[in-house]
Amino acid sequence: MTGKLELTIDDQKVEVVAGSSVLEAALANDISIPHLCHHPDLKPAGACRTCGVEIDGGRMAMSCQTPVAAGMKVRTSSPAVDHARRTTLELLIADHYTDCLACPLNTDCDLLKAAAHVGISRERLERMRGPSELLPVDRSNPFFEYDPNKCIVCGICVRTCDEIVGLGVLDFVNRGYRTVIGTFGNKPFIDSVCESCGECVVRCPVSALAPKQAELPAREVQTTCVYCGVGCGIYLGVKGNRVVSARGDRQRPSNQGSLCVKGRYGYRFINHPERLATPLIKNNGRFDKASWDEALDLIAKNFTANKGEQFAAFTSAKCTNEENYLLQKFTRAVMRTNTIDHCARL
Ligand code: SF4
Ligand code: SF4
Ligand code: SF4
Repeated sequence: MTGKLELTIDDQKVEVVAGSSVLEAALANDISIPHLCHHPDLKPAGACRTCGVEIDGGRMAMSCQTPVAAGMKVRTSSPAVDHARRTTLELLIADHYTDCLACPLNTDCDLLKAAAHVGISRERLERMRGPSELLPVDRSNPFFEYDPNKCIVCGICVRTCDEIVGLGVLDFVNRGYRTVIGTFGNKPFIDSVCESCGECVVRCPVSALAPKQAELPAREVQTTCVYCGVGCGIYLGVKGNRVVSARGDRQRPSNQGSLCVKGRYGYRFINHPERLATPLIKNNGRFDKASWDEALDLIAKNFTANKGEQFAAFTSAKCTNEENYLLQKFTRAVMRTNTIDHCARL
């Protein structure tokens, strides 16, 4: 069993789980340390250099990579720490996109929050930004886009695709100020092996990776994705009478917050004007709208008249195991045939 230990952060005694990092210890106790490349789902990288703290009155260390120790004394702010953090952030901002007001993340941007933490005002932020060459935005993916001008090269997307998704689509390309993230051969996303799951997009701390259609929901409804038998937990965002967003449920054991491309982006069919909303019965080659009673009566009549080898059932990966079991039972026991198959993938 993992034990607990005590340390001091900014004169406050805190008790944390042994093995935590200093950053995790601080965040768990509502003590703020700016950080841009840390994400709780990923291994620490120490890449952004903004989470520096002073340890035991002298040594400066990246808090995301420093394990806690019993009796440790941590200062999240000191002249040396503040100076290093401010310089790092100013360098990042100087090379960043210039129009925060037009950015969809605007009020929820981790870079702006870190800048506010060290006291860089929006006015100073605008002054610091030099004219820089605008790089082309990759809009090739149908669901999200990558704007290298907003990228702070934190590597969260690279590590997400590697550590969580297991595909390793992304890596750093170029060097120095020209460093951005890219796919193998720096091809557009659409020509890479990216599966469009959006796991990297939801973790991007700025809006360098951003969904193409983003609407803030008025409320969210907890439900289960219906696309396949994994049954991922999902929150559908609703605005008016429309579904406008989807996000994974971190508490659901089957997916722990992750979604595939269908669960994350495949909700637009719900409000599609061409969506089939009533049963249709074919009469003289033409499909006519029918009530559910009419449709079910017709099905029952035709099933009764077509038992045996004239009947075949084809079931779906969208159904649960229990539903698939019931259909094969119905096919064999009621319809008296073994002709049943299943689409093992969607
Ligand atoms: S795209 Fe976003 S997550 Fe990826 S490196 Fe750039 S800022 Fe970080
Ligand atoms: S969308 Fe998914 S597969 Fe594509 S790069 Fe991002 S994490 Fe990797
Ligand atoms: S379709 Fe994707 S998101 Fe939906 S349940 Fe299956 S794996 Fe999960």
